[in-house]
Amino acid sequence: MTDFIYLDNAATTFMDYDVLKAMEPYYLEKYSNPSSIYSFSRENKSAMKRTRDVAAKLLGAKPKDIYFTSGGSEAINWAIKGVVYGNEGKGRHLVSTRIEHHATLHALEFLEKQGYEVTYLDVDETGQIDLSELSRAIRPDTVLVSIMAANNEIGTILPLKEIGRICREMGAFFHTDAVQAVGAVEIDVEEMNIDFLSASAHKFHGPKGVGFLYLRSGIVIENLIHGGNQERGRRSGTENVAGIVGMGKALEILMAEKEEKNGRLTSLRNQLTKGLLQIEGSRLNGPKGVDRLPNNVNISFSGVDGEALLMNLDLAGILASSGSACTSGAIDESHVLQAIGVEKEYIRGSLRFTLSKYNMEDEVEKTIETVKEVVMRQRKIGR
Ligand code: PLP
Repeated sequence: MTDFIYLDNAATTFMDYDVLKAMEPYYLEKYSNPSSIYSFSRENKSAMKRTRDVAAKLLGAKPKDIYFTSGGSEAINWAIKGVVYGNEGKGRHLVSTRIEHHATLHALEFLEKQGYEVTYLDVDETGQIDLSELSRAIRPDTVLVSIMAANNEIGTILPLKEIGRICREMGAFFHTDAVQAVGAVEIDVEEMNIDFLSASAHKFHGPKGVGFLYLRSGIVIENLIHGGNQERGRRSGTENVAGIVGMGKALEILMAEKEEKNGRLTSLRNQLTKGLLQIEGSRLNGPKGVDRLPNNVNISFSGVDGEALLMNLDLAGILASSGSACTSGAIDESHVLQAIGVEKEYIRGSLRFTLSKYNMEDEVEKTIETVKEVVMRQRKIGR
């Protein structure tokens, strides 16, 4: 397929060929605006309905509670801002965690500048929150609790069912950023008392620039995007029909494959973790048990610079990501690795590998060998 080894699937995934095939007619033939009244457009509407149905089925939700967006960031921003603006009478306090994606953290910072108050829950060395701390943090004026379903850097899977129960009992709405969790973690919005859930197609072999927000009916939420009243008046803008169709196809494939895929990923991940941990001065960041995404390996090497490692891996045809980057002359360290207490030196030498169903055992072996060589070489240069 490609002449490089792609191990950055938390950043984005390869789009399935069947997804592309499903999308093609909606660019080349059935390209009308779905709001037009000719039969052509009715077909577009029913194609979008199929995606709504499959997304709802995956989450145990009602199809009418699925709203299409331009991806995860929009869904998250809509849930967070929309809920607080729509429920001003309830209060101006929110609860979240220190390990959320920037889509959440920056939306919360935006609200803080407007006088909202946010309590950020600390996490332990595996990225887990303390549920009793969550209970203590929720107040009568807490409008929303926003806690991710799974972390994109260290793969921690958060206990959605317990979080949902606490939020429901204490009268706060619950939003979860499930961008990394869809297909990897079983989610049932009813059983888990989830009121809002954000997802993004490009993380599960669908197209970029399309996602959805699950929005429990009956809850008042302000619109984020105003205009032509598409999506039943909740999210304006001409629908990305081909993207939505592609997301539906990707979800269908995911539902058919998820058990087998997660089993395979777990064994590849264990192979990669074991191999990398044999390198002297290495350390796994994040959870070690079943509360870790099946495709995530986040590992640090002492005495090396992660960015230099990344560049050397890139030269060897291996694509991954690191927990620190040099931006405009300053070192930008991962807030997630900081939150779980990783020391500076280990943050500097951290790498994240995220697998997909397209990765093979021999790629994992080659990665282990190459990382070993590159780390040794870097250490020699650094001495
Ligand atoms: N939330 C998490 C946990 C993510 O990993 C990402 C993307 O990396 C996002 C949100 C943003 O999603 P999108 O790229 O679709 O805007």
